Amino acid sequence: MSMFKDIPVDVGVIYEGERIRRNDMQVELGGPTMKEKFELAKVRTPDEIEDGKVIIIGPDIKDLKEGGAYPLGILVEAAGKTLDQGLEGVIERRIHGYMNYIEGFMHLNQRYDIWIRLGKKSFQKGLNSFEYIGKVLYRLFKSELPIIEKVQITFITDPAKIKEMYPVALQEYEARDAKARGLKDEEVDKFYGCVLCQSFAPSHVCVITPQRYSNCGAISWFDGRASASIDPKGPVFEIERGEVLNAEKGEFAGVNEAVKKRTLGEVNQVWFYTAFDHPHTSCGCFEAVAFYIPEVDGFGVVNRSFKGTTVNGLPFSTLADSTAGGRQIDGFHGMSIEYMRSKKFLSADGGWNRVVWLPKEVKERVKDFIPADIVDKIATEENAQNIDALKAFLKEKNHPVVARWTAEAPAAEEAGAEAKEEEGAMVPVATAATLPIMAGGFKIILKDAKIYAKKVIVRSMKDEKKS
Ligand code: SF4
Repeated sequence: MSMFKDIPVDVGVIYEGERIRRNDMQVELGGPTMKEKFELAKVRTPDEIEDGKVIIIGPDIKDLKEGGAYPLGILVEAAGKTLDQGLEGVIERRIHGYMNYIEGFMHLNQRYDIWIRLGKKSFQKGLNSFEYIGKVLYRLFKSELPIIEKVQITFITDPAKIKEMYPVALQEYEARDAKARGLKDEEVDKFYGCVLCQSFAPSHVCVITPQRYSNCGAISWFDGRASASIDPKGPVFEIERGEVLNAEKGEFAGVNEAVKKRTLGEVNQVWFYTAFDHPHTSCGCFEAVAFYIPEVDGFGVVNRSFKGTTVNGLPFSTLADSTAGGRQIDGFHGMSIEYMRSKKFLSADGGWNRVVWLPKEVKERVKDFIPADIVDKIATEENAQNIDALKAFLKEKNHPVVARWTAEAPAAEEAGAEAKEEEGAMVPVATAATLPIMAGGFKIILKDAKIYAKKVIVRSMKDEKKS
């Protein structure tokens, strides 16, 4: 029985985190195959909108072919005496949470990256129109955020209309992000936490600081502040920053305490400005992943919409799997594109001087924030498609990581000599703060693990198959 009698499926928090597989989906809206899609919230004056009105521009759900993928635009227009533009990001991010309350309806990501699936079972129960989705959104917005007095919701599936509105939405996001730039982490005494994605990753908490945007790229420090003030019991909450424990790595006493509490002790320590040891956790909504490439001692970055394989031969989906789930994985850092515009972007690891590869599209987007002396030294998919080509490119351009290779080589040789002398003694071949192992349906987590081995055999998968 539905929480709303006139909605054909159930609506409630228990459906958050529900996944709809391709075989079970009626339709897909947005997602990786659609170049242009968006969701946008705008604050209007009361006379500009009609309270409770749901507008559908283009074919409705029942008119879409079973199993097909379609572009989608969602526009939420809200009015209220105390509403202002500073709350648009907060209202917009609630679309994700509220849509996921609907049985058989999955909403992933944010802004220009939305990916929605409607399950066949819910469609067969009668969830066949955006009218229902709009009604659910309307009621949840009004009941959960009383500051909203009027709200009107528009769904757009007409490709021509999406084409027209897409650049407008991009401009809105950029203007919002630009406003949040300039403030520094050490200038504020409060950060904000978000647990909206704990339904997908229970041990994940986003900590939003002025210089580290949320992983999804949808909540700035200002949005966090606004959200926590209008809905203090909601998913976004205030964190007293507390004592600076490590200024270089970005460790704060108040953050460790809040994260420990909100993850029930699963995560105790977070370093914001590094991908090593205690990196910020990732749910699954991050816009991009920074991944360590040991062969060159540098970082690659790949964003969600990058098609094909990255320079280490892995696609975004595989790298995202290695990063997601609320874990702290050494060398992996889920993040927003906006974080790449921050002075604190992986600053403890060398910042831009340590980035060696990223998709051309991302490079173009953040180009103005990359130091001028390094921008041409960072490879894209056009310069390097594999590690050998990357090494050659970095050498030719004299990328700063090349100096690290020469600086570290003698040390490595010495270590090799030492290892020979002590043949038979066991040295750790892997260390990790948290090392999850999946076996027989169980997940075993080794904390602060050091793994010792007498011998390490590296065999390619091809050899394995032959033997
Ligand atoms: S990615 Fe982080 S900030 Fe964004 S909705 Fe999820 S938990 Fe909140």
